[in-house]
Amino acid sequence: MQYKISHRASCLSPSLTLAIDSKAKQMKAEGLDVVGFGAGEPDFDTPQHIKDAAIKAIADGFTKYTPSSGIPELRQAIADKFKRDNGLTYKPSQVIVSCGGKHSCYNVILATCEEGDEVIIPAPYWLSYPEMVKLASATPVILNTSDKTEFKVTPDQLRTAITPRTRLFILNSPSNPTGSLYSREEIQALGDICVEKGVLIMSDEIYEKLVYDGAAHTSVAAFSQSHYDHTIIVHGMAKAYSMTGWRLGYLAAPEPIAKVIDAIQSHSTSNPTSFAQKGGVAALNGPQDHLQTWLAEYTKRRSYAHQRLNSIPGVSCVNAKGAFYLFPNISRLGLSSSDFCARLLEQEKVAAVPGVAFGADEYLRISYATSMANIEKGLDRIERFAKTLT
Ligand SMILES: *Cc1c(COP(=O)(O)O)cnc(C)c1O
Repeated sequence: MQYKISHRASCLSPSLTLAIDSKAKQMKAEGLDVVGFGAGEPDFDTPQHIKDAAIKAIADGFTKYTPSSGIPELRQAIADKFKRDNGLTYKPSQVIVSCGGKHSCYNVILATCEEGDEVIIPAPYWLSYPEMVKLASATPVILNTSDKTEFKVTPDQLRTAITPRTRLFILNSPSNPTGSLYSREEIQALGDICVEKGVLIMSDEIYEKLVYDGAAHTSVAAFSQSHYDHTIIVHGMAKAYSMTGWRLGYLAAPEPIAKVIDAIQSHSTSNPTSFAQKGGVAALNGPQDHLQTWLAEYTKRRSYAHQRLNSIPGVSCVNAKGAFYLFPNISRLGLSSSDFCARLLEQEKVAAVPGVAFGADEYLRISYATSMANIEKGLDRIERFAKTLT
């Protein structure tokens, strides 16, 4: 039978990170000794008080539809979080809770972009952004960066890329896949240009809490009323509370945009899972001290992995300032990133994501959200593999 597939759907590439992760998990299930550097999720357990809140919600019968943009209690907790952490004032009506930060991104793009519109995306990018832009029939405009600038776009690069058709600039700091973090001054310079040119910013701040060496995250919305008016912040529970499977993300936007996203969501997914939202309230309003422990652990792993990668002949790696990824340059080893990763998985049973998935074929993404023992074992194997190439 010949099925007609929409142009929209046939243009998509499936998520390579999810594909590699499931291949590695399958190899593990077959009893193979696989080291997984592929996962984009914390290896820590969701804190107990968050689980308890969701369990109690189920036991209490909180298992029915909720308002499609989230329960008032959670939208208020999110508004409080923006006030507390970022000095930003949002009314609960400007906050939309969605089925994961990914869903929040998609809602933003669907609500603001259409055919003929351009969306500026710095590369290396989170691999879903360009695909979401294509799903909305708009055009991704990729700005390439490299390890020489710590994977950050310059104000000049952004200014040159803006055309009368530019609708949205996607900013993700700290970054997945590179771990880079823009400074306050750098964020402001990019934000100023968007304000001047009337371009909206989708600021994906999901890694806000995962920054190292005393560095600080700055939200572009916080610089002035105009910056606030041009920004939609995307955020979620997945990374800071290790709640990836709960599917709980959120966005904060100027009122007119929040209103249309509310309508989109009411006709697509309706509300995010009722009892997961109770867990979200516990996450935001409860103790945050797990973060200290996690950050200390990530810091140790990052330093170790960074130093080990740089000691491998032919590999160089800038240190990450945030998130839980390193993005080593492997171009001197003479393989494309997909060949490198395919052979690494085959020969050494190490799963890493090829940079090409993020628009940067000279690199790999290594997630250090895995145990120190795994990191040591995995890097021994990568080193052995790299030596067969030089
Ligand atoms: C993990 C992640 C998200 C959100 O993930 P969800 O699991 O959908 O909440 C959004 N942006 C980036 C860059 C991410 O890495």
